[in-house]
Amino acid sequence: MIDKEYLLSTIRDVPDFPKPGIVFKDITTLLNNAQAFTMLMEHLENRYKEYNLDFIAGIESRGFIFGAALATRLGIGFVPVRKKGKLPYTTVDEKYALEYGIDEIEIHIDAFRNKKDARVLLIDDLIATGGTAEAAAKLIKKVGANLLEACFIINLTFLHGEEKIKQHTNFYSVLEIA
Ligand code: 5GP
Repeated sequence: MIDKEYLLSTIRDVPDFPKPGIVFKDITTLLNNAQAFTMLMEHLENRYKEYNLDFIAGIESRGFIFGAALATRLGIGFVPVRKKGKLPYTTVDEKYALEYGIDEIEIHIDAFRNKKDARVLLIDDLIATGGTAEAAAKLIKKVGANLLEACFIINLTFLHGEEKIKQHTNFYSVLEIA
């Protein structure tokens, strides 16, 4: 059984990271706690084992950790969505707005092995404004896959990123921080 209060207690607040005024939610203290990490992964496995997924797509870089762990539990493939310039083969890209400026993420053009309407779950550790995950959702659709849901370990609910994602796919978060 999942104990959300317990899982939340394993996430560390780091003030003024990466810049003054921001309180960063540090999930490394959940990952190095075997009881917490296992509890979380069992919860995700139970939720998604009935979805009949073909692939998990994880967003760089913490989405790789949860996404790859879940993919092996479900016996399916893992696909990285990366910052621009990191993937070696032919890519498809998507730009998105940051507080100041723009950023760009990419996926390999054949990431889902050209499987028609591949059933995909998108995962990341945390949703804030939703800009990164929205761009990732667009990319997954651009390469022809069927995005069933976007899953986040933590939702910073006061930033309302959920609303952006719901325009593209189902939304799920394990833990909410208001
Ligand atoms: P968004 O695009 O939703 O504003 O930002 C979400 C992205 O930034 C995610 O990829 C997430 O990993 C990262 N991020 C932003 N703030 C935090 C934070 O406080 N803790 C963690 N672990 N990741 C964050």
